[in-house]
Amino acid sequence: MTAKLIMGTQVNEEILKEIEQEVASIKKERGVVPGLVTILVGENPASISYVTLKVKTANRVGFKEVQDNQPADISESALLALIDKYNKDDSINGILVQLPLPKHIDEKKVLNAIDPDKDVDGFHPVNVGRLMIGGSEVKFPPCTPAGIQELIVRSGVNTQGAEVVVVGRSNIVGKPIANMMLQKGRNANSTVTVVHTATKDLASHCLRADILIVAAGVPGLVKPEWIKPGACVIDVGVNRVGEKISEKTGKKVAILRGDVDFEAAKEIAGFITPVPGGVGPMTIAMLMKNTLNSLKFKLGIA
Ligand code: NAP
Repeated sequence: MTAKLIMGTQVNEEILKEIEQEVASIKKERGVVPGLVTILVGENPASISYVTLKVKTANRVGFKEVQDNQPADISESALLALIDKYNKDDSINGILVQLPLPKHIDEKKVLNAIDPDKDVDGFHPVNVGRLMIGGSEVKFPPCTPAGIQELIVRSGVNTQGAEVVVVGRSNIVGKPIANMMLQKGRNANSTVTVVHTATKDLASHCLRADILIVAAGVPGLVKPEWIKPGACVIDVGVNRVGEKISEKTGKKVAILRGDVDFEAAKEIAGFITPVPGGVGPMTIAMLMKNTLNSLKFKLGIA
């Protein structure tokens, strides 16, 4: 069997087009657009490139984008005051603080200072709680898990009663996607198992999965013989395993590998995401969706 590839690059484009159209129609009818502020502290090169992409995408879909760059030595209290300012700013619907923050700043304190109704990353404890309750309580599902669910659903994979096995229990991927897939509802209603480093016999759990979601950060952890024939395999892992010279730019780039042995797994799975190009591109699309929804909640049209 050769698995159908689930291309996040394509789905991302579809979602951004949908957002673009909706933003244009809200602008026409209501005269407002979603506002997103991205707060970058310091000059970490990886953070700069993530923020640049977020800003570019926000501009492309027609948002008001405020890029607020702060020096690495900004005090914690000054950063908290900045967040308070954006919490009170009516033209801002989403506040994004790029992580990691410098060591002298308490990340948890900063993230918890964001108004939960503008927390488009979905990391505030109020939004984590809303996600746990499920249904209409959910405002901002965290972006990577939301992207994973979107990929599964848009691929036409049936989630109703499906055996879902999630490898990894982090707060940003494993726990939230497990929680989302077990909710009673159209795009979930699955039977969910979460496995981790203390799990006995990882292989036997994976082998039961109709939908296998792997977020461990261990290159090639999942072997082809752990995959049920025809299963949907979502590989969240992004592991740098070396460097190469890009044919396009002639510059050094990282060689990325997922948590699944892709070449062998694609001969057994029914659906599979590649790395890169699978889950990765979905995170920004879902950030844009959450920001648009934030405005829609405010306008009472969500
Ligand atoms: P994390 O916080 O390091 O958590 C990894 C989880 O995997 C932990 O729960 C750990 O178990 C489990 N695990 C690690 N090795 C294992 C093993 N050998 N067997 C079973 N379980 C194992 O990682 P994360 O933040 O969730 O990220 C996971 C991967 O996804 C990384 O490669 C990351 O780069 C990638 N990622 C991609 C995106 C994206 O594409 N947009 C976003 C986020 C993350 P314990 O709890 O027992 O330690």
